[in-house]
Amino acid sequence: MTDSAKLSRGDVRCSSCEAVCCRLTVVLQPEDHVPGYLTTYSPEGLRVMRRGDDGWCVALNSTNMNCGIYETRPSVCRRFMMNGPYCKAIRAEYSDPIAVSDRHQAIL
Ligand code: SF4
Ligand code: SF4
Repeated sequence: MTDSAKLSRGDVRCSSCEAVCCRLTVVLQPEDHVPGYLTTYSPEGLRVMRRGDDGWCVALNSTNMNCGIYETRPSVCRRFMMNGPYCKAIRAEYSDPIAVSDRHQAIL
């Protein structure tokens, strides 16, 4: 089975995923304590995790595709469930080349 087929079927674990959820817009909450250089503001004025030109959150360790601030990651990231509905939806979208070329960003 191809990686894309696995992604579509929904049987991928974080350890074998390209941290697709770390491409989503992460809105920070008052209880979050993330260094300012990792954050920015959305057009709507919400404080969010900054993303790089590649689309991934700048806190991602691109070598192993793990969160570089895991112990202090935002509350939204803590609540994001592997193989939950949002996980499956974003992986399905990421695995679809048509959707990838016209991807929209979701606000968690
Ligand atoms: S939660 Fe889902 S989308 Fe995020 S890294 Fe894990 S498998 Fe991938
Ligand atoms: S803070 Fe960590 S878990 Fe949250 S989006 Fe960024 S890299 Fe991913």
